[in-house]
Amino acid sequence: MIQAAHYSLDDTIAAIATPVGSGGIGIVRLSGPMALSILHTVFGGTQALVPRTLTYGHILDPESDQVVDEVLVAYMPGPGTYTRQDVVEIDCHGGPAPLRRVLDLCLANGARLAGPGEFTLRAFLNGRIDLAQAEAVADMVEARTEAGLRLAVAQLDGRLSERIREARSRLLDALAWVEASLDFEEDEIPPCRIDDDLTFTRGMLKDLIDGADQGIVYRQGIRTAIVGRPNVGKSSLLNTLLRVDRAIVTPIPGTTRDTLEEILNLNGIPLVLVDTAGIRSDTRDLTEDLGVQRSRAALAQADLALLMIDGNAPLTAEDYEIADSVGSKPAIVVINKTDLPVVADAGGILPHVPRVEISALTGAGIADLEEAIESAVFAGQVMASDAALVSNPRHRDVLRRAHEHVDAALSAHQAGVPADLFGIDLRAAVNALGEITGETVSETLLETIFSRFCIGK
Ligand code: GDP
Repeated sequence: MIQAAHYSLDDTIAAIATPVGSGGIGIVRLSGPMALSILHTVFGGTQALVPRTLTYGHILDPESDQVVDEVLVAYMPGPGTYTRQDVVEIDCHGGPAPLRRVLDLCLANGARLAGPGEFTLRAFLNGRIDLAQAEAVADMVEARTEAGLRLAVAQLDGRLSERIREARSRLLDALAWVEASLDFEEDEIPPCRIDDDLTFTRGMLKDLIDGADQGIVYRQGIRTAIVGRPNVGKSSLLNTLLRVDRAIVTPIPGTTRDTLEEILNLNGIPLVLVDTAGIRSDTRDLTEDLGVQRSRAALAQADLALLMIDGNAPLTAEDYEIADSVGSKPAIVVINKTDLPVVADAGGILPHVPRVEISALTGAGIADLEEAIESAVFAGQVMASDAALVSNPRHRDVLRRAHEHVDAALSAHQAGVPADLFGIDLRAAVNALGEITGETVSETLLETIFSRFCIGK
């Protein structure tokens, strides 16, 4: 088992497990050997605590006997818990003040403040879930659409891990044969199935890698820039899309106003609209209104460009300049204002790119636009409901590495290269796959993965 030196499993951790701000209830969660004794120190109830049952009572400051909050508490003895340790949950009134006071009392009486994702890290270190499942927990919390959620649920359920274990075990079989062939005389070695093992594994890894691009789109979304000169209808399109899709309009707070993003749910694909702060700004100053500059900035961050043209006006030099800045990025030319007479001759603008006629004002053509976006994103591939098991770029990179090693080993074997020479590739592939499920993983990688989590998860 991996020991993360910076994290001890022996102390008791505590955190507010619900979001910051006010709510109906808020939960303070504890995990570790002292969870129950800390609860006894700060909790007073009229009934005895029954494990896995909510008990009513009060949190009291043991020094002053002052009532801090009226609560329901649950005590769940390990190992049948999320972390496999004793866990306590205290349901408080959901305001920042009571939650903070209750947490502080737990900290004053022997708990340590949990780091990001530390409850889930304990679940992983204690063997309740593997690393891919732990990562799925963060994905579930962050899922932006139902499709993203479905992928996270499948991963949490262990479907990816199962495939990885199967591939890893076939590679271990092959490796065992390689090692036997070094140590024993030819007639003592068991029959060789190395061709089968490696061909099977290589095919499975290839399938997983092939589905990954789609999985990643569903999980992370596709960064989309709506570009065009002023007044072509960019903000009108945005508003229309928001209405049609009853979007998850999630402003993701960034460091500056410019990094505000909005997310549309386009048939399960999260469309992350970049630079909408600029598009929606009502108080644009002159420099901000320079279409070309704004478009360049938005394009730099985008995976997909929607180049908007005013169909009701002749094309200008600025339209062509913005089209130039799209470059070779996947793009769609959107000819807007087709409720008015179309006078723009857009044939010469990005001639090899799909085009769609719409009216942001009336909503005509919006369904066509959505279809065009979907085909642009998946380049004609349609995602089978559960084909994509991989939705995490880290997993895809590891799989590619493992695939290369398996491919190299198989080619070497087929070319008659002695086993001791390709054994090293097999070992590298086995180790790589272990980075997905967590059998072989460095502390640095663990820290990177768990730092994504929120505190209390
Ligand atoms: P932006 O500067 O590119 O964001 O453009 P706006 O969305 O602010 O639109 C500029 C003007 O064009 C506004 O007066 C809109 O009402 C108008 N407009 C936008 N889309 C359409 C459309 O499809 N048809 C018509 N007739 N007018 C539109």
